[in-house]
Amino acid sequence: MKGGLEEIAPQGPACPIVSDGEGATAVDVALRLFFEDPGELQSRADQACRRVHGQRVYVRGLIEYTNHCAMDCAYCGIRRGNREVRRYRMSAEEIVATAARAYGLGYRSFVLQGGEDPSFTDDVLARIVEGIKRECHYEVAVALSAGVRGQAGYRRLREAGIDRYLLRFETSDPRLYSRLKNGESLSRRLDALRALKELGYETGSGFMTGLPGEGLSTLADNAVLARELGCDMVGIGPFIPHPKTPLAGAGAPDLGRTLRALALTRLLLPKAHMPATTAAGSVDGQGREKMLSCGANVVMPNIGLPERKADYQLYPGKICVNEDYGQCGSCLAARVASIGKRLDYSVGGALA
Ligand code: SAH
Repeated sequence: MKGGLEEIAPQGPACPIVSDGEGATAVDVALRLFFEDPGELQSRADQACRRVHGQRVYVRGLIEYTNHCAMDCAYCGIRRGNREVRRYRMSAEEIVATAARAYGLGYRSFVLQGGEDPSFTDDVLARIVEGIKRECHYEVAVALSAGVRGQAGYRRLREAGIDRYLLRFETSDPRLYSRLKNGESLSRRLDALRALKELGYETGSGFMTGLPGEGLSTLADNAVLARELGCDMVGIGPFIPHPKTPLAGAGAPDLGRTLRALALTRLLLPKAHMPATTAAGSVDGQGREKMLSCGANVVMPNIGLPERKADYQLYPGKICVNEDYGQCGSCLAARVASIGKRLDYSVGGALA
C-alpha cells in the first residue's frame, strides 16, 4: 500500500499554496505545516477554500433510507451485531416523496445513505433514482452511499441516473482497516472507488479521525490517499465511540484532530467538495462552523423523518434528531453567515 510518509512522491500538479521558495512543493509545505504548525495550516486551508469556492456552502439533503445492515463494522452503531437497534427501511415511494418535498423547498442535491441492506437491490435503487429524477424535473443530482457493490451494479445504477457515489475508505492503514471491518481488505474498497470513477461517477471518499491505533502520520497518509484517488468529494469526521460496539471504550473524540486532517486534505485537494459533518457538530456545538472555517464547503441536513433519524445512530449524541428539516434552512443559514459564508442550494457538481 502506497502512502507511507517516507514514500510520498509529490509529483502531482502543484496545489495553489505558497511554496517555501527553497524547492519544496506545495505538498511538502502542507505536510510540514500539518506536523509543525496546525494553526497556520488551518488558516491557509480556509484561504484556499474561499479562493476556489468563494462564500458558497452547498446544501445536500441527506436521506438515511435504511438502518438494516449486513456488515459488522467495529465502529458503527447500526452494525449487524447490535440487537438493540430498532430497524427500519423506507419504502421506495417514501424515499421519492421525501426528495420531492425537499425539491419544493429548493433542494437540488440529495444523498441517499444506508446500511448494507440486501433488500435494496440494484433494480430497487434504480427505480428510486428514476423516481426522484422524474419528480424533481431532472434538475437534481443524486448521490448514493451504500457500501461496496459489484461492478455490474455500479454500472446499472450509473445508467439509471445516479450521479455521485460516496464510499469512505475510513483509514489508509490497511491493518487498522481490516481490524475494523472483520478482515475485509482495504484494497477491495479502493478498487471499488477506482471502478466508480471509471464509470463516470463523481466520486467521494473520506475517513474518520481518532480511530484507536491511528497515528498523526495515518491522518497525513489519509489526506495523501484522498489526493491519489482524485476524490471529487471528501468527508471527514471524528470517530465517536458507540456504547453497543466493540470500540465502546475508545477515547473521547478530539475535534482538533479532525480540523487538522481536514485542513491538510483541503490543501491537497483545493477543488474537492468537503462537508462540515454532522459528527463534528455532534461533538462540539460549533463543530460545523469550525470545519467551514478551515476547508469545508458543504452541509448535509438530514431531510428524513425525526423518528427515523433517532434510529440511525451510527454514533451516540447525534444532533438535530428531533427536528423537522424545515427548521434546518434558517438554522444553517445563520451558522454559515456567522463565519462569512452563505448557503447555496444549487446542484454543486464536481469541479474539473
Ligand atoms: N454503509 C455505507 C454508509 C456508511 S455510514 C458504507 O459503509 O459506506 C457513513 C459513514 O459514517 C461511514 O463511512 C463512517 O465513516 C461513519 N461512521 C460510522 N460509524 C461512526 C462512528 N461511530 N463515529 C463517527 N463516524 C462514524
